[in-house]
Amino acid sequence: MGLPRFPGGLSLPGWKPAAAGIARLPLPPVLRVPLLQHAGLPCEPCVAVGERVARFQPLGRVPAGALGAAVHSPAGGRVRAIEPGPTALPGRPEALHVLVEVETGDTDEAWRLPPLDPLGTPAEAVLERLAEAGVAGLGGAGFPAADKLAAARRLLILNGAECEPVVASDAALVQHHAGDLVQAAHLLARCCGAGDWVLALEAGMEAAIAAARQALAAAGEEAARRLVVLPDRYPAGAERSLILAVAGLELPEGELPRQHGVLVQNVATAVAALRAVRDGEPLVSRLVTAGGPGLRGAGVWEVAIGTPAHWLAKAAGGWALEALVLRAGGPMMGTVLPDAEVAIGKTTIALTAWPAPPASPPRPCIRCGDCAGVCPARLLPQQLHARLQARDRSGALALGLMACVECAACDVVCPSAIPLSAGFRAAREAEREHRFRQRQAEAAKQRFEARTARLEREAEAQARADAEDRTKRLSSAAARALAKARARRGDAGKDGGGDGRGGAA
Ligand code: SF4
Ligand code: SF4
Repeated sequence: MGLPRFPGGLSLPGWKPAAAGIARLPLPPVLRVPLLQHAGLPCEPCVAVGERVARFQPLGRVPAGALGAAVHSPAGGRVRAIEPGPTALPGRPEALHVLVEVETGDTDEAWRLPPLDPLGTPAEAVLERLAEAGVAGLGGAGFPAADKLAAARRLLILNGAECEPVVASDAALVQHHAGDLVQAAHLLARCCGAGDWVLALEAGMEAAIAAARQALAAAGEEAARRLVVLPDRYPAGAERSLILAVAGLELPEGELPRQHGVLVQNVATAVAALRAVRDGEPLVSRLVTAGGPGLRGAGVWEVAIGTPAHWLAKAAGGWALEALVLRAGGPMMGTVLPDAEVAIGKTTIALTAWPAPPASPPRPCIRCGDCAGVCPARLLPQQLHARLQARDRSGALALGLMACVECAACDVVCPSAIPLSAGFRAAREAEREHRFRQRQAEAAKQRFEARTARLEREAEAQARADAEDRTKRLSSAAARALAKARARRGDAGKDGGGDGRGGAA
């Protein structure tokens, strides 16, 4: 049987660092910890400038009722400042950061959470722990893990497919922590009620595949059932391609995996969840690959969240080029960073450096169709591009703009060097913003209508109460008047008054 397939895709050069150990990056003198490293709202700072903080101590908490993930200090130190700065999170260019001057480092354990039994702790308590420990997706969008796991699923897919060149963080994680990953799979599957789970890796991750097979065998699991090896083809790790290849399910445009009972969770997120539960560790570090032709060396490091990019670059041998493009992630989907001060966040799977592209303008489309051939979403990128150039929003939507996974495979093959995916990314961002505003406007309208209806109901109720009150008052006045009249008549009878004709019957 061949490897599971998905449509389109590309074979890209690997340039991966050789499978070796994971080095621990020393802490920098100052950590810049972003208060936004996840989907949803930024955290609100819960420390003050000048305050001493310990490792694992919360620096920011999620606003009540909002989607988000708590942020913790990776080291003991003193809060030097709380200030805005650029982030490495896709689509969220700026956020507040807590700057921690590192003093006691990672020796202080006072804020470690109490360990919980990963096998016996009820699912609700596990989700509470994941929220408390700030566990969010480490693979890309940073969706808070507790919220993702709260919906019931039938299938859990642990995604270890790193299809981008250079990036090898998940391969290193699986290679060195495969036992934890199997334990994490059981924990997460139990939490979301999934009856089945699989681990998806890529052909070419030989060391990780071997380690996964060994860990599965040690846990009494059948590799044939639990391990899926995808083709070494970009973008095998993109959620929709992965679900199609692993489960044979092609998600209709606009529908989410959750609607089909499927949960895709990055392997590093799964292990972070296990550590939050089993070891009581808030999420304060992650594995990051550093590499690319703009760096002298390459490798995988365990890096404290908030470490500036230049600190990691220094550990990787320093810059190899003068003019370069720095990306949080790989060359295909990585976010371009404005400078090397930007801090490593929970979603920063890699720090890669690339030669700055020549500033030549794109040439006209020659209608070769190559872009359509590699599109994993079965789109027609050239036509989509033409609709966007014509500012035809509805035409672009009809051509499936929102199904684009922003993989940039179409850019790679375009002989005219047209920056197709950048236009799609911007248009999708604008469309998401538009829909968000529409939802907000709709919610505001519903709130206004509900308030108006409530005020009308209250006014009607008040009018009814007033009327009843008036009726009661009138009736009692009438009753009093009648009683008085009767009383007067009674008195008159006693006096024998009136016309003097009253007498004994
Ligand atoms: S960026 Fe979008 S249009 Fe281009 S190949 Fe990827 S999914 Fe298709
Ligand atoms: S690959 Fe480039 S030149 Fe070819 S059809 Fe697509 S946009 Fe046009």
